[in-house]
This record gives sequence, structure tokens and C-alpha cells, in this order.
Amino acid sequence: MTVETTVKNGAGPFASHAPADQRIDTLPPAVDVLLVGCGPVGATIANLLARHGVNVLVVDKSTKVFEPPRVIELDDDALRVLLLAGIEERDIEMIAIPSVHGSSRSRDQFAGINSLDSLDRHSTLTFYQSELERCLRARMRRFECAHIALGVGLSGFTQERHHVLARLDLGHRRTHVIRARYLVGADGANSLVRQLIGKAVKGKPFAEERLVVDARHAPHSIGHTVNAFSNGRVFLAGDAAYLTPPFVGRGLLEGLRDAANLCWKLAWVVQGRADARILDTYDEERRPHTNPVVKLARFMEKLVMPRHGGIAPLARGLTRLLRRVPRLRSQLAQWQSQSKAASTRGLFVKGRSSTKLIRGTVIAQGRIRGSDDNTYLSDDVFGQGLVLIGFGTDAQAALDSATAAALARAGGSIVQIARCGRRRDGWEDLDGVFLPHLVPVGWAAVVRPDKTVVHDGPATDAQRLVRESLSLLGQHCWLASEHDAAWGLKTAIHTA
Ligand SMILES: Cc1cc2nc3c(=O)[nH]c(=O)nc-3n(C[C@H](O)[C@H](O)[C@H](O)COP(=O)(O)OP(=O)(O)OC[C@H]3O[C@@H](n4cnc5c(N)ncnc54)[C@H](O)[C@@H]3O)c2cc1C
Repeated sequence: MTVETTVKNGAGPFASHAPADQRIDTLPPAVDVLLVGCGPVGATIANLLARHGVNVLVVDKSTKVFEPPRVIELDDDALRVLLLAGIEERDIEMIAIPSVHGSSRSRDQFAGINSLDSLDRHSTLTFYQSELERCLRARMRRFECAHIALGVGLSGFTQERHHVLARLDLGHRRTHVIRARYLVGADGANSLVRQLIGKAVKGKPFAEERLVVDARHAPHSIGHTVNAFSNGRVFLAGDAAYLTPPFVGRGLLEGLRDAANLCWKLAWVVQGRADARILDTYDEERRPHTNPVVKLARFMEKLVMPRHGGIAPLARGLTRLLRRVPRLRSQLAQWQSQSKAASTRGLFVKGRSSTKLIRGTVIAQGRIRGSDDNTYLSDDVFGQGLVLIGFGTDAQAALDSATAAALARAGGSIVQIARCGRRRDGWEDLDGVFLPHLVPVGWAAVVRPDKTVVHDGPATDAQRLVRESLSLLGQHCWLASEHDAAWGLKTAIHTA
């Protein structure tokens, strides 16, 4: 497979940025989170954790960003994660490339992508992965609590009751033992972390010579997913947890979703804002979404790169059919959308309201105007914590002071969105993304830091919505009465 683009690889705007390198001889004895791997997923996790104020050390056994071209096509959701991680719109504009054409021996051209529409309104956006990685590393420098040690590989770890003890290989037969409250393996396809926690690879892994040119650690298996994304205090993210052939271009996209899902939960637990049991919902929410992606990627691989020359014409015919037969196209779309669908289990209140808001999925993003007359993206206004949103109404009015205080202690805030033209009533919904498209006036929702809807209902019930949401975090102890505490225990972390 070849990829042609209009920008020369390795010569982009972040080429000269050095990362926030931690000197190997001053590696700390302990950190909150030890992150193994500073590929795009690891670098995003580091930025997200650091934005939440978590003390994180990233180690990568390689001293350089991996250069060979792996063009990345990202969708809105993925871009939102990058923005949440602190990447700025101007960064994205700088690293975007205008067009990409993918071709293979059996099909002259199998894909063509054009970029760049406007941010968050674009259909696709294409980058060189190495530029994105450099950009993420450069942004990491802004945080005092994030450190990166390059040329340092994980060689082993043991899990204790309250921490993980990890052994780092510093080269020249030097090692360093570090204590971490949690360890995240974002160490790619041949993940040592995955091997050490002994998760069997599900499916039929096989080495693919033709992919070796693009892989960091060849040969490796493609088309796998693990049978658990975590074990005790250790978590897997990105290619370490599942690896898809690159034909649907979704590997990084899913890895970024892992990052968004995991990081706030780790931060809330490390900072004592939530019970450690919420970490179990990472696996519950993320793993079911990766299987359809792997399935789709394998299917596309067979079409694009048939194993036997004899079936190439058949594959070509099928590709044409796919373009022309709506039912086949919709099956493909269904596989794609399954990876975005609501989780059936996880950290949200079970059930569905009569509105278009779906609990367990990411809330839409829109442009909203503030009292300063400036326009913002709603994610920026919702902020880094839990948020209670009142649509066309002030949801705070329904909260008693104990609940409002508990919400604040859990890192929560309250936002009021007003209909377009009603700016005096809150943040004005300029494009009507929320009102009336998503919810009616008088509605309220509780949204997590990763923008997933936890709960929703009439704003007059905001008190109950907040209390039930806080109970999911294990924060019933912050709620006033004994009745609440008992209720909280009963509803803590819903598992269907
Ligand atoms: C040709 C091609 C095109 C693609 N196109 C797309 C696309 O359009 N869209 C998309 O979403 N995805 C695409 N992908 C997939 C995407 O590139 C991967 O999903 C992504 O690189 C995964 O990132 P990662 O951070 O999980 O792993 P990696 O990028 O593999 O990073 C892992 C890091 O861990 C380090 N490491 C490994 N072991 C250790 C250890 N023991 N100690 C310390 N460090 C260690 C490595 O040095 C490496 O830096 C494509 C892939 C290919 C090959």
C-alpha cells in the first residue's frame, strides 16, 4: 500500500520541537501514573492526565518519533479528544494536509480523502501521524506534572495492593525501579504490558509481511483485540489493546477514545473525587466498541489486498458492488456506527429519556456565544469536570445547597444554554445544536469530563439527576442524609 500526499514527511511545523525530556539520572522514585509508550495514544493520555493535574511519567524505549508515513484520517470525535487534550485549533490547521490518495497493487486507487473543512464542522481531516505526535509532545511541555523519558523501556512490573512496581531499562545495563499508583500500557501492537498482564489475544493473530514497513516493532499480529482492557492497577489503550489492519483508518481514532474515557476516571480516582470502582467501567465501555471495528477492517483488508491473485478480480467486483448496492453500504455503515453506539454497561444512569440525548454517548458539540460576545465551542465551556447543563433554564435553581456543594467537590460546574437569540438567558446556542434539535426548553443533563451523557431529565428534577450521577462516582458519602447513602450504595456503578 502506498500513500501519496502533498507535504514532505518530517518537515512540518513541529519538526524542531524538543519534548519535555526527563533526565534519566533524575527519574523519580514514585508517580501517580506511569505511562508506557509515547506514540499518539500515549502522548494524548499524557496531555489529558496532565490537564487534570495528575503527576505522570511517560517512558518510551525509542528516542525518536516514528517517521514512516501513516496518514491519519480523523473524525469529529477524535478531534474533540485532541482539543480536550490541549491541542489548539491553530495546531490542527498547521499539521493538516490537503489530500491523500491510497493505492494498492490490486487496485490502482482504493481511497481518496480531502481535508480540510472547518474545525468541528469538517467531514474528514488528514495528518501525518509523526507531525501529530510531535505536536502532542510539544504541548506536553506546558505541564509541570508531565514528564517524558525517551530511550527508557519498561522491562517488567509487579502489582502490589496499593501500587505497581515497574522496572525500567535505562540502557547500558542500568535499571530504575519506580512505584506508580497506576500503570497504563500504550505501548503499541507488540505491547509488553499486555503480555505481562497475561491477556490472551482473541481472534487469529498472524504476521503480515506487507505491514511490516509501517510497524514500529515488526513483525506483529494484526486484527486482534484483548479479552480485557485492564487488570488491577494496569490498563491498556490504543494498539496495545487491539490492532486493526489500516484499511478503514480507525486505529488511532479508537485509541483516542480510549484516552478520553480512561484519563478523567484515573484523575478522579487519584484525586479522591471518585471511588476506584469507576475504573472497571473503562473496560465495560470501551471493549465492546472495538470488535466491530476490527471486523470491518479485516473485511476491507480482504477487498483491498486479496491474498491470492486469482480472487483479485472478485474483490474488485465486490468493491464496485459495495459502492452501488445500498444494503451492502448500510451494513458497512452499521459496523462503523457500532463503534460509536451507546454502551449497554458503564458509568451512566440506565434508561433513556424521550429526547434525542442518549445516555452513555458523547453529547453533540456546537458553537455557543457568551456574554462577552465571543463564540466558543461548547466543549470548552463545559470544561474539564462534570457539568450540569440547564437547557433554556437555570438548573441550579432546583439544587439544595448540600447537593450544589457535593457537585462542586466532585469537580462539577453548572452551565445554562439559551436558545439562539436569547443570550440574556445563558450561553447562546448559535446553530441550534442543542435547542430545540436535541432537547426541549426546560431540560437538564449531567455530562462527564469526556462529554459522555451520564443522566438527563426535566430541569425541575436537577437535584435528583445530580445526586444519582454523584452516586455513580461513589460519592454518596458527600450527600446529606442516611437515606441518600443507602440509595447511593444500591445504585453505585450500574452494571446491566
Ligand atoms: C499505513 C497505516 C495507516 C494508518 N492510517 C490510519 C488512519 O487513517 N486513521 C487512524 O485512526 N489510524 C490509522 N492507522 C493506525 C494508527 O497508526 C495506529 O492505531 C496508532 O499508531 C496507534 O498508536 P499507539 O500510540 O497505540 O501505538 P504506537 O504508535 O505503536 O506507539 C507505541 C509506542 O510505545 C513504545 N514502546 C513499545 N514498547 C515499549 C516498552 N516496553 N517500553 C517503552 N516504550 C515502548 C514504542 O516505541 C512506541 O513509541 C494507520 C496505521 C498504518 C500502519
